Amino acid sequence: MAEIGIVGAGILGLLSARRLAAQGHQVTLWSAPQRHPPASWAGGGILSALFPWRYPDALTRLTRHALADYQQLSAALAQEGWPGLELVESGLLMPGVADTATALSWAARWDLAARVVSAAEHCGRFHDEHALWIPSVGQLRNPRALKALAASSRRAGVHTVDEPVQRFVAAGAGWAVQGAQQSRRVDQLLLCSGAGTAGLVQRSTGRQLPLFPARGEMLCYAPGIEPPPCIILREQGYVIPRADGTLLVGSTLTESADGRPTAGGGRVLQELAETLWPPLAGRLPFAQWAGIRPGCRASVPILSELPEAPGVFIASGHFRNGLVAAPASAALITALMTGTAAPFDPAPYALSSSSSPP
Ligand SMILES: Cc1cc2nc3c(=O)[nH]c(=O)nc-3n(C[C@H](O)[C@H](O)[C@H](O)COP(=O)(O)OP(=O)(O)OC[C@H]3O[C@@H](n4cnc5c(N)ncnc54)[C@H](O)[C@@H]3O)c2cc1C
Repeated sequence: MAEIGIVGAGILGLLSARRLAAQGHQVTLWSAPQRHPPASWAGGGILSALFPWRYPDALTRLTRHALADYQQLSAALAQEGWPGLELVESGLLMPGVADTATALSWAARWDLAARVVSAAEHCGRFHDEHALWIPSVGQLRNPRALKALAASSRRAGVHTVDEPVQRFVAAGAGWAVQGAQQSRRVDQLLLCSGAGTAGLVQRSTGRQLPLFPARGEMLCYAPGIEPPPCIILREQGYVIPRADGTLLVGSTLTESADGRPTAGGGRVLQELAETLWPPLAGRLPFAQWAGIRPGCRASVPILSELPEAPGVFIASGHFRNGLVAAPASAALITALMTGTAAPFDPAPYALSSSSSPP
């Protein structure tokens, strides 16, 4: 069995570590949460791309079974004694969306129930607008998933190193992963380092990846406000009703590697909150946070071996869709690493031998 290093303990790194450890590989997971807080903690947990028909089919392939995949994971974690992931099939309502014809033909092609409804049919708060309704969209309590996955992977023998990786260099038939304090030799290396991936690859190989840091901010409202009956998505943002009565409003999008929430972001989201869900008018959020998404200039993430560094793999660039796309992405990248049959065509996510986008 191989000695495998994974950089990053966000959702991509943890799900990949779980798969590889289950196959008997020796896995070491590096993470540097102080310097690079994982986007996976900050996300809203919507298990759908936003306006999913506007993405290429290769993205739909990564996202369409997310709820079922997480349900399976939740059951497996429950058997190990971890609390549930608070998966809820909330449904997604998109009032006033313009491109409904394209949306409906996309849904029919992927065999997904979707229909145009009167928004008021779902909720008296919206009056005369039509809305697109996709009932099967779920949500995940992502911090719970990360906590359970991290604890479960430690129990399964995954070794963790809490320090930033500076670079990786060739070492015999494998790679040496050089951290701030220690260096470790591995047969294969998987970079799930989110917004830190571009810098790590450039420092190690000189290659520039089409990735960029994209800050996103969220507001959280305390229970006690009338919740919407489902996730509400408009062009400007969304509101997510959590099972415990809290409401999340998101999200801003700024190209920045600074992970601190901003006063401007808070103002924008507070104004948006009232447009998205009228009962939020005049209410104050009890929390605001930010995360740095692994932005990607291509419309699908990178799931590929690095051509100039055989044995080094990348699963990064999931941008706004990393939580929903993580189970399928982890299945694909670990299949590529172990030489088992890929669950679907890996070509759309592959890096070419030049530094052009995937
Ligand atoms: C506000 C917001 C809302 C979002 N909402 C949703 C949503 O509703 N649905 C959805 O699907 N997606 C959503 N996303 C996107 C999603 O959160 C990300 O795409 C996803 O979490 C990326 O996961 P990751 O594992 O690739 O990266 P991350 O979660 O960022 O993890 C990267 C890991 O790498 C580590 N790291 C980085 N560099 C180094 C280094 N040099 N050495 C060691 N460790 C390193 C970090 O510490 C971290 O552990 C949202 C994101 C934000 C910010």
